[in-house]
Amino acid sequence: MNKYIERVLADTKAKNANEPEFLQTVEEVLSSLEPVINAHPEYEKAALLERMVEPERTVEFRVTWMDDNGEWHVNRGYRVQYNAALGPYKGGIRFDPSVNLSIVKFLGFEQVFKDAMTGLPIGGAKGGSDFDPRGRSDAEVMRFCQAFMTELYRHIGQDIDCPAGDLGVGGREIGYMYGQYRRIVGAAEFGAVSGKAVCTGGSILRPEATGFGAVYYLVEALKHDGEDIKGKRIAMSGYGNVGWGIMKKCHQLGAKVLYFAGPDGYIHDPDGVDTEEKLNFILEMRAKDPMHCKPYAEKFGCEFVPNEKCWGVKDVDIYMPAATQNDVNLESAKKIAESGVKYYIEVANMPTTNEALEFLKSQKHMVVAPSKAVNAGGVSVSELEMAQNAERLYWSAEEVDAKLQTIMKNIYNNSVEVAERYGLGYDLVAGANIVGFQKVADAMMAQGIF
Ligand code: GLU
Repeated sequence: MNKYIERVLADTKAKNANEPEFLQTVEEVLSSLEPVINAHPEYEKAALLERMVEPERTVEFRVTWMDDNGEWHVNRGYRVQYNAALGPYKGGIRFDPSVNLSIVKFLGFEQVFKDAMTGLPIGGAKGGSDFDPRGRSDAEVMRFCQAFMTELYRHIGQDIDCPAGDLGVGGREIGYMYGQYRRIVGAAEFGAVSGKAVCTGGSILRPEATGFGAVYYLVEALKHDGEDIKGKRIAMSGYGNVGWGIMKKCHQLGAKVLYFAGPDGYIHDPDGVDTEEKLNFILEMRAKDPMHCKPYAEKFGCEFVPNEKCWGVKDVDIYMPAATQNDVNLESAKKIAESGVKYYIEVANMPTTNEALEFLKSQKHMVVAPSKAVNAGGVSVSELEMAQNAERLYWSAEEVDAKLQTIMKNIYNNSVEVAERYGLGYDLVAGANIVGFQKVADAMMAQGIF
């Protein structure tokens, strides 16, 4: 490996030894940058990689809130403002007991490259809390969101940092957080938070955007091989906002999601999630209890396999892990490779361990696409929401959808073109990393060293 990359990786490991998820993504990204670092010796002089791996700012704060029984709770809140060379910090907020500094930094680091790839003027950030919204009443969630924003508001703003949703944070939580922000600053500054409901400054199609964008990317990857999405069969994990968007778009385009996995096991519906009724049922099921997908099998009379993942099933054309990080380890990757399925399209942030990703990439019969590129549709429409807010207008669904399709097509094409230019062949993973890196690097070099 290039000596400069090796040194920065070693220093990053030594400095952040207790942050495994963060180190995992830094290793994955940096190790794919060799050709571009070799071609630009000036980056080492400007300490570019050292600066890129270090967040510009990290905020960690106390969130104190009262439950419905009058008891007080203390959670930890985070916002890692990673890199604003391309525009205001942008990225989601995650509420989940697993949230810690390592998770937020890994997500923030990924976000920098993802946001750069969209070609839109946004930097990268991520935030969250170890608060668990599951089983909490609406009033409790509202009080938590208000307490969280009471500290966060001083660090964000439409030209500074625009948070959005992520796991555990949807339209409801965003609404409560935006309401508290507006109350404190005393201005209808819509562009300070995205993912808002349309009635309060949100963009049409934002809830669907990540899933729709993932399918638009998939359409391009299939087209490259002379294939059509129509009739394709898919196995996925996750049926949250993103998974649901994928199912909806697949249904519209004539592809079928035959398998989907949740925390309790997986569903096998041989007809696919092919009706509005099924799509609506998934929304209701998730709202009632996000930990169990078994009710789908009971309602529609299909198979439910408890405590298993659907990695390795053979009667599909495409796998799409859309649940959470490190969902696919080496053991699952081997089953996936043995199944003979060609397309492995990551959707969730870092759903594959590094060794599993290396293994899958080495399989000659497979096409592997990285989540940084595939799931960029969500943040793209968030930025389109900021654009609508800035001009104080709402765009139609057709307008937003057309822009989203163009962005996803460009992301795919740019990744292919850059990988080829650097002699890497058809490498969608390295291509995406290099496209994102190059945009941020150019902006950082142009702005001088600080
Ligand atoms: N959390 C989403 C992501 O990982 C969306 C971020 C946003 O809309 O700012 O990209």
